[in-house]
Amino acid sequence: MVNKRVQNIEISGIRKFFNKVSDYPDAISLTLGQPDFPVPISIKSAMIRAIENNKTEYTANAGIYELRKEISNYLYRSFDIHYSPDEICITTGGSEGLFSVFNALINEGDEVLIPNPAYPAYESILKIMGAKISYYDMNDDFSINVLRLKDVLASNDNIKAIILSYPSNPTGAILSNENKKELYEILKAKNILIITDEIYSSLCYEEYNSISQFQDLKDRVVLISGFSKMFSMTGLRIGYVCSNVTLMKEILKIHQYNVSCATSISQWGVLEGLKSALSDVDMMKENFVKRRDYVYSRLIALGLEVVIPKGAFYIFPSIKKINRNSEEFCLELLHKNRVACVPGSAFGSKGEGFMRISYSYSIENLEAGLNRIENFLNNKI
Ligand code: PMP
Repeated sequence: MVNKRVQNIEISGIRKFFNKVSDYPDAISLTLGQPDFPVPISIKSAMIRAIENNKTEYTANAGIYELRKEISNYLYRSFDIHYSPDEICITTGGSEGLFSVFNALINEGDEVLIPNPAYPAYESILKIMGAKISYYDMNDDFSINVLRLKDVLASNDNIKAIILSYPSNPTGAILSNENKKELYEILKAKNILIITDEIYSSLCYEEYNSISQFQDLKDRVVLISGFSKMFSMTGLRIGYVCSNVTLMKEILKIHQYNVSCATSISQWGVLEGLKSALSDVDMMKENFVKRRDYVYSRLIALGLEVVIPKGAFYIFPSIKKINRNSEEFCLELLHKNRVACVPGSAFGSKGEGFMRISYSYSIENLEAGLNRIENFLNNKI
């Protein structure tokens, strides 16, 4: 009765763990990637105006032209990334962007390289497509292991595409300038598709680097991004995909048959946000840096091995010295001390031995959660 490939995937380990928290009403959840700031007021007002002015009809499949133009300007001004409005499609969050891109470009049996650990959607969507999945590894500091990647690409001519994901969920790693140049040299020489998920680009705490900054790779780079995190509007569901028009023509077919267009009201909200809410984004980013520093210093004080994140709002401490696998560890932590973090294994085999803490929560919540983690560890180590 059921599609076998769908039967063979599971709902994301992040959601699974989040759902478990409801069994513990007194638990503190540090599980979700969802900023706790309200949507910037100018975005809310623009959405209310859009409703009052009856802007509730279908938009163009690719999204409102003015918004695509504003995204084009924003990418150019902020990141030196060049896409014209015709090379941009507004999607129902980054999630639909990923789904439409993979559907449009990946055939059954195509081999795709994904990071390990990584955001779980890549693997699950590729499994639905019937793709063959291979993994590339990170160094101990979660930066990309360029030399190993070079070997993998040199020894395998079947690879159709590589997924890049910076700033990273779950590790908080970003792409350094040096790694960007090395990656460019490797990928210039290898004619494969490059799909780059940059949904956390507005939350990068150091210089921003992206493979999509190289114009001469443009015929095979696809950029996926969105506003869920940037404008703290996860429920309003606006993302976008950028690619050259040849690839975009195919991506748009899937997007059209799947959703027709992204929600009109939210598109008008984001358009106003790009014009007048970038200072709100700066304010949120400053707060995330404070939260990151706080959580990092607490984890160090607890004696855990941890790499300081340089982007997004996740931190990925090692729990290897505690004699449990990551799922057992997180279950026990939730059960005994009532704090929920996501087991590293939810992000792939190389996530085993780690847990993901989201610091998108208030300092008060983070402090209370870390106090509980401290109590838990004091009884363990
Ligand atoms: N990519 C990554 C790396 C993410 O972490 C997320 C959301 N957690 C998405 C894509 C999807 O974002 P959206 O909520 O806009 O669908």
